[in-house]
Parts: sequence; structure tokens; C-alpha cells
Amino acid sequence: MSVAIDPRVAAFIDSQHGLLIDGHSQPALSGARMAVYNPASGEQLAEVAAAAQADIDLAVNAARRAFEGSWKAQRPADRERLLLKLADLLEANGEELAQLETLNNGQSIHLARALEVGAAAEFTRYMAGWATKIEGKSLDVSIAAVPGAQYRAYTVPEPVGVVGAIVPWNFPLLMAIWKIVPALACGCTVVLKPADETPLTALRLGQLCLEAGIAPGVVNVVTGSGAQAGAALAAHSGIDKLAFTGSTQVGKLIGHAAVDNMTRFSLELGGKSPVIVLDDCDPQTAAAGAAGAIFFNQGQVCTAGSRLYIQRRIYNEVLERLVAIAGSLSIGPGLDEQAQINPLISAKQQKRVLQMVQRGVEEGARLLCGGVAHGERGFYVRPTVVADVHADQQLVREEIFGPVVVATPFDTLDEVVGLANDNQYGLGASIWSNDLGRVMQLIPQIKAGTVWVNTHNMLDPSMPFGGYKQSGIGREMGHAAIEAYTENKSVCIAY
Ligand code: NAD
Repeated sequence: MSVAIDPRVAAFIDSQHGLLIDGHSQPALSGARMAVYNPASGEQLAEVAAAAQADIDLAVNAARRAFEGSWKAQRPADRERLLLKLADLLEANGEELAQLETLNNGQSIHLARALEVGAAAEFTRYMAGWATKIEGKSLDVSIAAVPGAQYRAYTVPEPVGVVGAIVPWNFPLLMAIWKIVPALACGCTVVLKPADETPLTALRLGQLCLEAGIAPGVVNVVTGSGAQAGAALAAHSGIDKLAFTGSTQVGKLIGHAAVDNMTRFSLELGGKSPVIVLDDCDPQTAAAGAAGAIFFNQGQVCTAGSRLYIQRRIYNEVLERLVAIAGSLSIGPGLDEQAQINPLISAKQQKRVLQMVQRGVEEGARLLCGGVAHGERGFYVRPTVVADVHADQQLVREEIFGPVVVATPFDTLDEVVGLANDNQYGLGASIWSNDLGRVMQLIPQIKAGTVWVNTHNMLDPSMPFGGYKQSGIGREMGHAAIEAYTENKSVCIAY
């Protein structure tokens, strides 16, 4: 059954969307606007302002004034209280935010409620707590340069300054929260650039920040294209720290732009995460785990379990069950509470995913199910399982960002370690087995930022998250997020 649209959601979508700069909604200085779409129908949903360099200048200046002024004046306990209030507002407006996200991003309303709102509120509370627990160290130094002099040294974490946050479309609200909240907890101010495709919940989040009592200019939201607004923000010399989540390709551009200004930066990038099934597993449990790892949010997840390695003794049985699960999933709009597979973000993404599968099949891979679009309207791709791929195929090596899993059999642990690590990425991996000895042998050998055992895609605000290799630089969440938004000042006093 389809969820009835909350009248507040319809009113927000129909409102005139400007850039949120210094607490005010204002049009782009050029007057430019861009359309956003509903992936379930392919129809235009709204129009937003398209920022360019001059707008980014205004937003960065506003964030700078707030950093030096109103936000600096807030004590850690004040920042904590404001962020706790924001978490309450996320929940109080939860259904509205979830529906807005589903309409703009296409994702399941269940996912939007649980993650974009529920997990975002939990994360906000967790990070709010850190605001009052940021500590330096007292250092027992051994300086002997001047006989008779004594020294006292300590470190002071200080907010890094104005943060430029650039986020992708796959979990728009949650990704924005992952950046804004730790930045604010540390005393930084933010200019947020949401993805071209999904600006709406970011704009609503900006309003909720103001409603929570966070001063104007502390959180600024600039909608617009990556090529124009994103690039201008990344190259801006008034930014002290760039926090980026998105593709590895764009992440490299961000890194280069950051280094040119010596701006601090952290990059959460793509992945091609292996799911390793050992032969002691119950085949149905393994198949259900593998299905969840890849079909969650239609595979538009940076840690999607897109490479499946199954030990040969149970290879065929797990694949048969996985194909049965894939075929049983109902496909429909995210607002349909029964639908388990929802549209991809755009026609472009749908085409890219289907072309990659087609090419893999032409190269000899065995298509077990899916590989085709679904329905006349919207950007759907049927859950797809491809078997017997070669390690050098594009399907195995490149991130697909769709509901497509490629399966390969293996015999020994050494072999699967080699296959899993033959990967430009290193974001996540999961091992499925109850054989503790073999699991413990594998964990240290897998090159990935997160290794799950008998689960996949499970994150917690306390678990540092980020990638090895081309999957990024730096970590988010946990105490690592505090380090990402602070400078560490050393003080040395002679007396
Ligand atoms: P993308 O890299 O194309 O875009 C990400 C953001 O960068 C968007 O806001 C976009 O407007 C902006 N952008 C694009 N070009 C830019 C430029 N030249 N300069 C500055 N900004 C620019 O990625 P996407 O298609 O939006 O998202 C999908 C990708 O994100 C996938 O590769 C996925 O793995 C990755 N991702 C990673 C994580 C993680 O935590 N590691 C999480 C989610 C998504």
C-alpha cells in the first residue's frame, strides 16, 4: 500500500527553494535554477537554485563570520544541547523527512524512516555527547636545552574552522548529518553542498538547524551542480577542511583542489566489497545474507556486497537460493510499503548498470537472473545475479552501484584472500562462517576498513568508518570524527 503524502511534504516541495546562506533563503545571484526528479516516475519533482562561484563566496564568508563570532561564543555544553535539540527535531519531523527523501531519492520509505531519520538522530545524539568530551593531553617532556629550566607541555584540540561538506545522493540526509554534526560538535561551521540529484532534505535540514537554535551562518546549504558549485567549494581558499563522500573519480579532484590550498580533507569513496561464504555455512542463511548485502538500497551503497565468493562445496546451492530470493523480491516505488526493490536514482544510473551487465555477459559471464529494466516508468533494474566471472572483468573490478552481484567459487582460504584483495577498493568485506578458527585467520588478511562477520552493512556511530586503498582517506564516526574536525595544537611553557 502506498503511503499518503503528508501535506507538509507537498507544501515544502512546492515552495520556492533558495540557497540557505547566513540563515536566509536566497536565489542564486545568477538566477540559475535546476530541476530535481522523482526516480519512481521519472517526472520533475521540484526546482532548486543552482549556485556558482559568487554564491559559494557568500556562503563561505557567512560560515567564516559565524565561526569567528556567534558559534565561537557557544560553550561545549551549549553545542551539545543544540545538537540534542536538532536530534529531537529530526525525529519530530521524521515522517516528513522520510517521505521527502523517498520522493527525491527513490529509496524505500522503511529505509528512509530507519536510516535517514532514525540512524541520523541516533548519530546526532552520539556526536552531541562528544562536544563536552574533547580533551587534549598533558605531556611529560624531557627537554634539556637550557640547564635548570623546567617545561610543561600539553595539547589542545581546536576546531579546524570552516568546513566544506560535499555529499552524494545515495543516503542524502544521513551523509549530510555524518558531516555537519561532528563538525558542529567540534566548534566548526559548515557549507554543505548536497548532490545535484537530491538537494531537498539538505534544505529542510538547514531549516531545522535554525529551528534548533543553531545561529544563522553556522550551517549554510548551497544547492547546485558538482561541476560548478561543488568545484567552487572544493577550490575555495576560505575553506579550512573539505569533507567529501562520493565517487573515487571526483574524490581525486577534491584531494588535488584541497592540496593546492593546503586545506585539510577527508574522502569517503567507492567500494567493491567482497562477501566471503565458507562451506560450513547453512546455504539458506548465506544466500539471505548475500541478498541483503547487495540488494539493500538497490546496491546503491558504498559498502554493497557486490563480489560474492562461495566455497565450492556449497557454490551451486547458495547461488540457487540467492536467485530464488532475487526473484521473490517485489519491485515498486519507495512509497509502496510492500515494495522491496525500488528505483535507482536516475535514468543515467539505470542505463550504466544495465550496460555493465550486458558487457559482462557478452564477455562470457553467466546471467542467472535480472539484467533488465522493470516497468515502463521510473528507473528500476531487476535484482541481478551473475556467475562464473573472471577476475579481470569490468563487472568484477568496477563499482556498479546497482542491484548486481557477481559470484565466483573458491577452494582454499589463501585463494579467497587473493581474490578479495585483488581490488582497487578496500571499504568493507564480510565473512560468513561459524568456524571461528578460519574466520580469525581471514580477518587480518582482508584489506578493508570494516570487516563484518555473519552480517554486512552494519554501522554504528561508535565504529570508525572509511576505506583502504582507493576507497578513501580518513575515517568518520567514533572518536575518529572528532580528530577529523580538530587541529591539534601543542603548547610548551618554560618556567
Ligand atoms: P559523485 O562523486 O559524482 O558526487 C558526489 C558529490 O560530489 C555530489 O555532491 C556532486 O555534486 C559532487 N561533485 C561532482 N563533481 C564534482 C567536482 N568536480 N567538484 C566538486 N564536487 C563535485 O558521486 P555520486 O554519484 O553522487 O555518489 C555515488 C558514489 O559515492 C559512489 O561511488 C559511492 O561508492 C560513493 N559513496 C561513498 C560512500 C562512503 O562513505 N565511502 C558513501 C556513499 C557513497
